[in-house]
Amino acid sequence: MKECKLAFFDERTMPVDTIIIHCSAFNAGQAIETYKEAEVSAHYIIDLNGRIIRLVDVDKRAWHAGKSLWKGRESLNNCSIGIEVCSLSLGQFPYDRRQIFSLLRLCKRLMKKYHIRKENVLGHSDVAPSRKADPGKGFPWAYLARHGIGRWYNLKCAEKVKETDEKKLLSLIGYDTQNLAAAKWAFCRHYLPEVVPVDKNIGHLIDYPYPEEFTVTDNNFLQILKAVAGSCLK
Ligand SMILES: [Zn+2]
Repeated sequence: MKECKLAFFDERTMPVDTIIIHCSAFNAGQAIETYKEAEVSAHYIIDLNGRIIRLVDVDKRAWHAGKSLWKGRESLNNCSIGIEVCSLSLGQFPYDRRQIFSLLRLCKRLMKKYHIRKENVLGHSDVAPSRKADPGKGFPWAYLARHGIGRWYNLKCAEKVKETDEKKLLSLIGYDTQNLAAAKWAFCRHYLPEVVPVDKNIGHLIDYPYPEEFTVTDNNFLQILKAVAGSCLK
């Protein structure tokens, strides 16, 4: 594995138990230059061709997630490994298979080494829904879940959930629901990507990570929301 050490990290104060997936709308070389300018980092970056580059040691706290919250826990940088995957569309279109194979192998290795539960592999938009859209609707969560990475759902799990309040269900899964519209779009990016519109302007998507109104009328939304919440109750 190639290395390109970045100096933007500090000491960890708690153990690693989470992986956060990001994407950058550049190739790896360009992305690393933007990190240097912004003084941010990730532990790994996967280039457009699937090559993995290590940027920060996992035992250090890299600066990748920023203000974030999941299951009531803030500042996910403290407990997470950040993996950036390059995508010129900011993850709106499918990723290269070589990238996903590399990511799959890397996640498996890290999950085993640090005893990371599969449901603790999350997207940046999951933990910062009002600020971030990455890794985007094109990220293959369903495929990775079939390989034991990330949470997925079985529609049968919806039956055991009586709750129908969207905010409560999203919160049960782990989302920060302070901005409910943002949380709903983050959920859709992860579990119902076909309803999320493509934004041709990457700059606009970065500045406005979710559409202003939640216009999803798909009946599947509540059923899938209940199914994912139900899978958390196991
Ligand atoms: Zn990110």
